[in-house]
Amino acid sequence: MTVALSALSPPLLPPLLALAVAPLGAFVAFDLGRRARTRDGHARNPWLMAAALALGTGVWSAQVLALSAMLAPFDAGFDPGLAIVAALVGLALAAGAMRSWLVAEPTWPGVVTGAALLATGVVAMQATLLASLGLAPRIRWHPGWLGLAWVVALAGFVVTASLLLAPAGRGRFAAPWQLARAAAAAAAVVLVAQTLSTAAARLPLLGVAGGDALVPATSMAAAVAAGGLELLLLMLLGSALERRMHRALEQRTAPAPASFRDPVTGLLTRGPFEGTMAQVLKQAETAGTPAVLLLVGLDSFKHVNDAFGHAAGDAVLEQVARRVRELAPPHRVARLGSDEFLVLIDGAAALEQARTLASRVLDAIARPCHIDHREISVTASVGLAVYPQHGAAPALITHAGVAVRAAKAAGGATYSLFDPRMVADSREQAELLRDLRLAVTQRQLELYYQPKVHAPSGQITGAEALLRWNHPKRGMISPGVFIPLAERCGLIQALGDWVIDEACRQVRVWRDGGLRMRVAINLSAHQLRHRELPERVAAALRRHQINPDLLTCEITESVAMEDTAATEKALADLAAVGVHISIDDFGTGYSSLAYLRKLPAHELKIDRGFVLDLECSAEARKIAGAVVQLALSLNLKIVAEGVENDEQYRILREFGCDQLQGYLFAKPMSAKALALWAMDDVGPRSIAFRESLFKATSALVEA
Ligand code: C2E
Ligand code: MG
Ligand code: MG
Repeated sequence: MTVALSALSPPLLPPLLALAVAPLGAFVAFDLGRRARTRDGHARNPWLMAAALALGTGVWSAQVLALSAMLAPFDAGFDPGLAIVAALVGLALAAGAMRSWLVAEPTWPGVVTGAALLATGVVAMQATLLASLGLAPRIRWHPGWLGLAWVVALAGFVVTASLLLAPAGRGRFAAPWQLARAAAAAAAVVLVAQTLSTAAARLPLLGVAGGDALVPATSMAAAVAAGGLELLLLMLLGSALERRMHRALEQRTAPAPASFRDPVTGLLTRGPFEGTMAQVLKQAETAGTPAVLLLVGLDSFKHVNDAFGHAAGDAVLEQVARRVRELAPPHRVARLGSDEFLVLIDGAAALEQARTLASRVLDAIARPCHIDHREISVTASVGLAVYPQHGAAPALITHAGVAVRAAKAAGGATYSLFDPRMVADSREQAELLRDLRLAVTQRQLELYYQPKVHAPSGQITGAEALLRWNHPKRGMISPGVFIPLAERCGLIQALGDWVIDEACRQVRVWRDGGLRMRVAINLSAHQLRHRELPERVAAALRRHQINPDLLTCEITESVAMEDTAATEKALADLAAVGVHISIDDFGTGYSSLAYLRKLPAHELKIDRGFVLDLECSAEARKIAGAVVQLALSLNLKIVAEGVENDEQYRILREFGCDQLQGYLFAKPMSAKALALWAMDDVGPRSIAFRESLFKATSALVEA
């Protein structure tokens, strides 16, 4: 006589546990498996394996628990080998099913294949577990019921898959309630398929073989209930933790909304970048590793706007931003100001990486930008500040700014690491600047005059006006210190205007005292860019009734050779006023002879660097000789500056220089000292003033 095993009445707990463990296994499987949908290649496999393990464990445990409940009234047990085979079969088929279902773009054939694999898994597992019971005589299978179990399971799993996969689009995670719905459906399918496949097995009523090799059903149920549930709960916990970490990471790296982005470059603006920076610095503090802030500033970007217009300027900024972004870590670049960018790096080797990055950024930016069929070249300077040594945000940004200014002061196109001494320097500069603003009104500025000597005769023919700042506390400050400061801070116009007026006033005072002295003034590049410069010079000459012929404007070679329309026009307008134009520090820049010929210049001043080695270096003699020849062939007068000894004097005179200037004749001196020397013949050296300086005084009527 045979009886359907399902007809036996089971105790209550194991079936209840079976009811719980199947949906739990499915839920954990789907929860873990959905991660596989957003990942590619090898990154998917761990998630698929974890999902298969959860699903296989859930189904297998549910089946073992249900069978244990049915077997409880008998002295029955499981063959552990076959029970393990059942688990492995279930795992393998669950893995196949997960691989078919959990893809980024699920297809119907994939869904059906997965469902078929799962259906086969559930039926095969149940059959193997029944076989593991060691019943005698052997089970007779009813193929119709078995087939029905498989078909019902197939249909049920197709529905499960559609519940699981339909709501979530590509890369999106299904909501927990959707997972729970699919898990409940899966559990229901498992239980129905289990019941049907159990019904397919026809066995002798009390034909349990028993024996030592079998694990008693009660022990099996207890072990499975404890082990299976524990495993699934642990996996659920792991999944929840992973989800939290993922969300935290996502929030940290999520692209910022458009309003947080700079419209020109698409980079983060300062506000959101500071938020990211605060988080990164906190992490660095916890990890005990440094972070480095790089401030990338373009050198003289204003000239690009001036020369090519703001639209081209924006296009340059956009290209520069793209180059920086390509080199820097994602979401770690921001636009700070008009032509400044920030990059943040962290990690144990952050400083090394930052140095390498700084060099690469400098190279990348130095590549020409192609805008509207034009090539525009810019260079950048980079300042580096390290957390925590150089402070936390926002001091870090300030200090990176100090470092970038140091890099620019060193000539630009380089990077510099912040040094606390730089702050002391910049504090000193700030104090100096504050004092310099008062210097003009408080009459602390003075022009000193260094005589220029007529080389063939050795007589004084004129003087160069050199600016001095008599600081109330610091004493006499060199123009090499405060002129660049005034240029950087927009004070040079006021200072330059004072020099123009003061030099003309002095010429008038001397002239009224009987000395017709020709005076040279130095003009800065910034003054030259000012359109009103020629008019200001002309106005000063008019104000003090000076013949323009008595004034020379010295412009350094590097400025004069800036081949821009603005420089060319400024020099032409100055020449039109009637003043002489002198190219100062000649030989230190890169002159184009063709351009030099075009300039309305009257004289060249050979730089002191060439005069320095004249008496001891044949090479210096050759260069100086060539420069003199060049000036002569261009019909320009030549002045040598920095003449300090007789040998230099002799050589330069032989070369054919017109005028000489240097400590050998006189150091720069006050106007009063120079006048006394001219009048009383008491000076640093017994040099005569050229007769013409006195003779023409009364006869000349100034313009
Ligand atoms: P510079 O125009 O080339 O002036 C010559 C510099 O060489 C002066 O330095 C002068 O004192 C120095 N010098 C002259 N002869 C000798 C010599 O034999 N040996 C040595 N060692 N030095 C000699 P200073 O007065 O310090 O001026 C430095 C620079 O500052 C000037 O170079 C000029 O470019 C600039 N500068 C001076 N005054 C003004 C000004 O009013 N406006 C502008 N924009 N720049 C000025
Ligand atoms: Mg000069
Ligand atoms: Mg010079």
